[in-house]
Amino acid sequence: MDIPRIFNVSESAHRIHNPFTPEKLATLGAALRLEPGTRVLDLGSGSGEMLCTWARDYGISGTGIDLSQLFTDQAKLRAEELGVADRVEFLHGDAAGYVAGEKVGVAACLGATWIGGGIVGTVKLLAESLRTGGIILIGEPYWLRLPPTEDVAKGCHAGSISDFLLLPELLASFGGLDYDVVEMVLSDQDGWDRYEAAKWLTMRRWLEANPGDDFAKEVRAELTSAPKRYAAYAREYLGWGVFALMAR
Ligand code: SAH
Repeated sequence: MDIPRIFNVSESAHRIHNPFTPEKLATLGAALRLEPGTRVLDLGSGSGEMLCTWARDYGISGTGIDLSQLFTDQAKLRAEELGVADRVEFLHGDAAGYVAGEKVGVAACLGATWIGGGIVGTVKLLAESLRTGGIILIGEPYWLRLPPTEDVAKGCHAGSISDFLLLPELLASFGGLDYDVVEMVLSDQDGWDRYEAAKWLTMRRWLEANPGDDFAKEVRAELTSAPKRYAAYAREYLGWGVFALMAR
């Protein structure tokens, strides 16, 4: 049970698997005014950077679940490295349907809302783990401007234009679910560059280390096409942000 191999290769050196920089992650933690001891649940926790740094900087405790064995192992190592392994745990597995045994103050899903079948389902799933008055965090792309064609949307790795909304509509959609948007931190092009361009060096190094691997053809094709595709499409059309929600 794992994610498609291309991600375990291209993002193997990432600490943050989304367009957030370490600074944005810290800004988000500060913006939420986290009380020490707050329990945080993170579905699709990747390499654990949010939980580990927030445990170190804001004294939270937490649980992360991720389908990638590699990322989960990296998260555990990061917790050791930052001296927070007694406060954060990382589980390898499918987070679909996961509900915390003990209610949490913050329930998050950053960049993995397919886990609940989309934003609506993921908000519902996270709400099941949330204590009254707690905060839900959703990390999600939005259109900076509408793609002129479906091909442009596909260039952004969207299935179609209708997969994402413009920012005002996305914010309004949370209201439609009966949630207030109480905070948000948005990524920028530099953050996108860190997320996307960092994959290229990782793929290049992987190709040099694994020339005979069956998977090398796929990685080579991705490395060859990714820079231009990224600059033409996602970099121009896609925004990304984390939205903090409280039930009305
Ligand atoms: N929130 C992390 C990771 C975002 S990338 C961060 O911001 O760094 C999306 C993550 O979702 C990847 O780590 C991937 O392994 C994980 N994932 C994909 N499908 C999943 C599932 N069904 N259950 C749990 N994790 C999943």
